Amino acid sequence: MKTTRLVVDNDVNKTQVYTQAVEKLKSGEVVAFPTETVYGLGAIATNELAVAKIFEAKGRPSDNPLIVHVGESQHILKYVSEISKKAENCIDAFWPGPLTLILHAKPNVFAPNVTAGLSTVGLRMPDHPVALELLKMLGEPVAAPSANLSGKPSPTTALHVEKDLQGRIPLILDGGATGIGVESTVVDFTVDPPVILRPGGVTAQMLSAVIGEVIEPNTTTVDDATVPRAPGMKYAHYAPDAPVYLIESNLDAVDLAIQSIHTQNQKVALLAPNELKNDQADWFFSLGDQQNPEESAHHLYAHLRACDDTAADIILVTLPLKTGVGAAIFNRLEKAADGNWWHS
Ligand code: AMP
Ligand code: MG
Repeated sequence: MKTTRLVVDNDVNKTQVYTQAVEKLKSGEVVAFPTETVYGLGAIATNELAVAKIFEAKGRPSDNPLIVHVGESQHILKYVSEISKKAENCIDAFWPGPLTLILHAKPNVFAPNVTAGLSTVGLRMPDHPVALELLKMLGEPVAAPSANLSGKPSPTTALHVEKDLQGRIPLILDGGATGIGVESTVVDFTVDPPVILRPGGVTAQMLSAVIGEVIEPNTTTVDDATVPRAPGMKYAHYAPDAPVYLIESNLDAVDLAIQSIHTQNQKVALLAPNELKNDQADWFFSLGDQQNPEESAHHLYAHLRACDDTAADIILVTLPLKTGVGAAIFNRLEKAADGNWWHS
């Protein structure tokens, strides 16, 4: 299959580009498009065969449900059987934006492979002009996971999508680099208090300001039975080719680690904020200012991917502060490192 990448800008050909994408989707094909978080790979969420092509192109396990993207927030009762006041308030506060709400799905609306057979569905309205224009022109809900090969870091540029999915999908809409850089926050509103299943662009503090108590499974001790586990969380994720090790944010610890790696004749790539730059590292990728997790999030996946273009044997990543979007960065790094911590 030939993969076409079409740049979407403010040119006169804009309508033509969207029309092509809408036609592809309506004919049961998949299309990659930018959102404010990462690039998504979309198919019409009511078309089971089209949705199956997402799983096939990504190599994604079929028991990992997809998030459904909508172009407006007014009519979500078409898709869900009920909606709590808290969920409504969060939609008012954060849509369009990086918040996915898990709600009870209306039966027989979505293709069964969208929800992996669950009775719940994850819904979000993205805050990106290209995604919104596409969704509005299409007038249908779009199931879309990140547009990468399953297990790889999510794509934050159209070139990342091309690298992973060239020859596997027909069309990529290129809207430049995404803004936030990590995926949406996934919150389960079928339980009360709501539970954060995946930290993301909307932080726990932002949610609490609107709906009071929210449960963060990583920081709150809760009975296992009361916390619904997010499907898909068991899979390896966000991983570059070389092994990733997390290391404490400390100049001496980083220095010792690099020395010890070099003693074993191995090469090391370091991902760290500017404050922890180390000239002994064979490659250094800056995560920006330590106090600015938004900046780190924006660069994270591009840097993890860039490590694949180096000859590094080991990737060291310093531990981010867990505040704000830092919680999402920490969550992704834990998965990228598969729990590996560097101990000198
Ligand atoms: P991705 O599409 O790769 O950004 O991942 C989407 C994630 O959203 C999945 O891995 C799930 O953890 C979560 N998700 C989507 N739908 C549901 C659902 N119905 N219930 C619980 N979690 C969900
Ligand atoms: Mg993904």
